[in-house]
Amino acid sequence: MFWWDPTYILVIIAALISLAASARVNSTYARYARVRSASGMSGAEAARRILQMQGVYDVSVERVAGNLTDHYDPRSKVLRLSDSTFGSSSVAAVGVAAHECGHALQHARGYAPLAIRSALVPVANLGATLSWPLVLIGLLIRSDSGMLFINAGILLFCAVVLFQIVTLPVEFDASRRGLRLLTETGILYPEEASKTKKVLSAAAMTYVASVAASLLQLLRLLLIARSRDRD
Ligand SMILES: [Zn+2]
Repeated sequence: MFWWDPTYILVIIAALISLAASARVNSTYARYARVRSASGMSGAEAARRILQMQGVYDVSVERVAGNLTDHYDPRSKVLRLSDSTFGSSSVAAVGVAAHECGHALQHARGYAPLAIRSALVPVANLGATLSWPLVLIGLLIRSDSGMLFINAGILLFCAVVLFQIVTLPVEFDASRRGLRLLTETGILYPEEASKTKKVLSAAAMTYVASVAASLLQLLRLLLIARSRDRD
């Protein structure tokens, strides 16, 4: 039966990679969330200052519930900072706020990878929802049309992988912009910024881990398709 197949080891490896990356970002964040910045500016104040100094006046900064739920919403032009970031003046909190400003600036400046990423969202969502069901249906159909379903599922999963790969330059660039602006605007001293960089690098690694995990899943799909083909 396919759900006992040996390729399941790839799922376990993928899960371990993701787990390690998220454990690392959580511990790095927790460590630098205890280091207060000398300027004493909160995440929200830092975000507002960066946006203002960059001439971005149409993005509002709001508070959102949760832990590390920070994000920039390009549709409503709202930068949402989580409870742990909004009011905190730690080097970790202002780092996350500056990273989200990086996304707002990418949007304002028409940064191409962000536009490509946004365009890929619907097809990636479709792929995430339909790829595995299609493959499973394909495995249940014993006739030749089963292979059609499997291939369609694999193709849709490739869209998910592509989306995650395009996400990498977007995330790295946002952190680069954020870090530079934190020192340029005087929110952080260079020695504080080096601590913030550790937090943002750990966060970036979670996106790299997602790509690795998805590539392992894709490999698994291909192996399953090949063994079905041989039957
Ligand atoms: Zn980001």
